[in-house]
Amino acid sequence: MAANTFLKGGEFLVKSSDHRDLFIPEDFNEEQLMIRDTVRSFVEQEVVPFTDRIEKLEEGLIPSILEKFAELGFLGTHMPESLGGGDLDFITNTLIGDEIGPSGSFTVTYNAQTGIGMLPILYYGTEAQKEKYLPKMITGELKASYCLTEPSSGSDALAAKSTAELNEAGTHYILNGQKMWITNAGFADVFTVFAQVTGKHLPDGKSGFTGFILEKGMPGFTLGAEEKKLGIKGSSTRQIYMENVQVPVENLLGEVGKGHLIAFNVLNIGRFKLGASCLGGFKKLVETSAVYATEREQFQQPIASFGAIKYKLAEQAIRSFVAETAVYRSAQLIQQAEEQYKASGMEFAQSKLEGAKEYALECSIIKVIGSETLDYVVDETVQIFGGMGYSEEGHIARAYRDSRINRIFEGTNEINRMVILSTILKLAMKGELDLLTPGMAVQNELMNGVVPDVTYSGPYAGEQQIVDNFKKVLIMILGTAAQEAMSGKLDLKEEQEILMNLSDIIMDIFNAEGALMRVMKVAENYPQKPIELYDAVLRTYLHDTASNILKYGTDAIASFIAPEIQPAFLSGIRKFTKYPLQNVKENRRKIAAYVLENKRYPF
Ligand SMILES: Cc1cc2nc3c(=O)[nH]c(=O)nc-3n(C[C@H](O)[C@H](O)[C@H](O)COP(=O)(O)OP(=O)(O)OC[C@H]3O[C@@H](n4cnc5c(N)ncnc54)[C@H](O)[C@@H]3O)c2cc1C
Repeated sequence: MAANTFLKGGEFLVKSSDHRDLFIPEDFNEEQLMIRDTVRSFVEQEVVPFTDRIEKLEEGLIPSILEKFAELGFLGTHMPESLGGGDLDFITNTLIGDEIGPSGSFTVTYNAQTGIGMLPILYYGTEAQKEKYLPKMITGELKASYCLTEPSSGSDALAAKSTAELNEAGTHYILNGQKMWITNAGFADVFTVFAQVTGKHLPDGKSGFTGFILEKGMPGFTLGAEEKKLGIKGSSTRQIYMENVQVPVENLLGEVGKGHLIAFNVLNIGRFKLGASCLGGFKKLVETSAVYATEREQFQQPIASFGAIKYKLAEQAIRSFVAETAVYRSAQLIQQAEEQYKASGMEFAQSKLEGAKEYALECSIIKVIGSETLDYVVDETVQIFGGMGYSEEGHIARAYRDSRINRIFEGTNEINRMVILSTILKLAMKGELDLLTPGMAVQNELMNGVVPDVTYSGPYAGEQQIVDNFKKVLIMILGTAAQEAMSGKLDLKEEQEILMNLSDIIMDIFNAEGALMRVMKVAENYPQKPIELYDAVLRTYLHDTASNILKYGTDAIASFIAPEIQPAFLSGIRKFTKYPLQNVKENRRKIAAYVLENKRYPF
């Protein structure tokens, strides 16, 4: 893995990277494949057979599964060896999340324990706090949860009303308030809670949003009943109430008034983990769809023989392939950053924190792509199953309901789309992302016909060009929007529709470029792989992406560009989204044939 070629957060929009350096799932080594198989067997043997009982929230069941997973070492694979963890690299941890993905409610339990449950303490805990809690969380002896949301503050998390007042003796904070939608609350022992430090005795005069570690059994700390939810019914979700809970000052997490750093930095990885586990879910559903479509007969033939069904199977595979590529591409970026920070002498937790922070934008992309791909794929699985997909007797209805939460928690997809855009604009303002130079080049190309001197050759020259062109569409619109925002003509914060259009283009670019690089690498390094399958996926995806970007771009310019210059923009967008016609019908039939022959996700 060449460390010198990796791009910083958001830089993919203005630079290209070498496909030979990209980590792709075809690159997994023997050890990673063994880990994958172990987790897969665990899901098949220890989770799936208990699904009905898990869904009924049978007392003690999900925590006991978590403990069994801990016995195999899987709750600490991202933790330092000094605390009893496995210190596996980020890509391998992503693979574990990917494999645990099809476990429904257990996935949510696992992600909460290992992500938002443990990470606040790893990132911000004192040495004493880390030693007290993390080793026991790794062994499963302690279960963890993360309490940010309140009844009146969800997306606007920093508006939390819970309070923490230091007592006169300076020994305890007195916490009051209520938290809502807390995953794992029913059996958790340790709760990271956010509250506003206020009152007469401010520590060193500091106040504001702050993190605390609370423990089950603290007087005044109580739980609400289990929420009755649409899906992930086996995952414990409760409210918590705090009435004069005395929390020792040693349980302050991080610094007073700096709770927002904990909340947001932990969410980066929370978002990434969510996207990675959606991946396991939709790949499994491709398999489920293929098996059913082969077995179910109508009009004296398997439904898999119908073009309409082949279309669905192919589209499920295409979207899964693209999202899978994006997940491992981002995992590699984070891993490389972590390794670089560690090599520079940074300690374990800080290097993890900084790695995720560097790629906060990519983490939001993965959250949105993962959750929306899963929703698409599961919806089409219901359709392929017909009435059986709608029946509670099968497991498809449950998967359909379970999927839906992913667009809501860890920051709704609307909030994440805005994070994508605001991060890019912040990087540009700080001079860390140069949008100006590529912006001038695009302008020069459009106005004066000056074509950049990058020319591609080889079997994917056209595809490399179209991905470059997609970036030009974004640069053209984003550059103009940023200029108008800076001159006060456009208040971008009030123009969310445009922000949504631009984030959709950004995600399409990330996906398209990743898919292209993966296919190019497979073509060069994996001659045993069916390259015609990969080709068909890439070309079909680019065909669709060109139309999507044309639409998002047109919507955006119609929304804010002055009418007299709209035609110039429009012709630019049309030029940059021109991709030779593909026989998408034949491509999808080819892809469906591979799905059906393998009866699984075929990559
Ligand atoms: C099953 C489940 C488990 C959860 N687990 C946890 C947990 O363990 N810990 C925890 O702290 N929280 C948890 N949550 C809470 C979750 O993170 C929030 O539900 C989520 O952040 C959204 O907040 P909200 O529900 O208040 O929706 P709201 O913030 O009220 O949003 C409602 C709608 O308005 C949109 N919206 C809000 N603000 C804006 C804006 N500025 N611009 C545009 N659109 C906007 C949203 O995108 C959404 O579509 C969980 C929730 C559920 C349902």
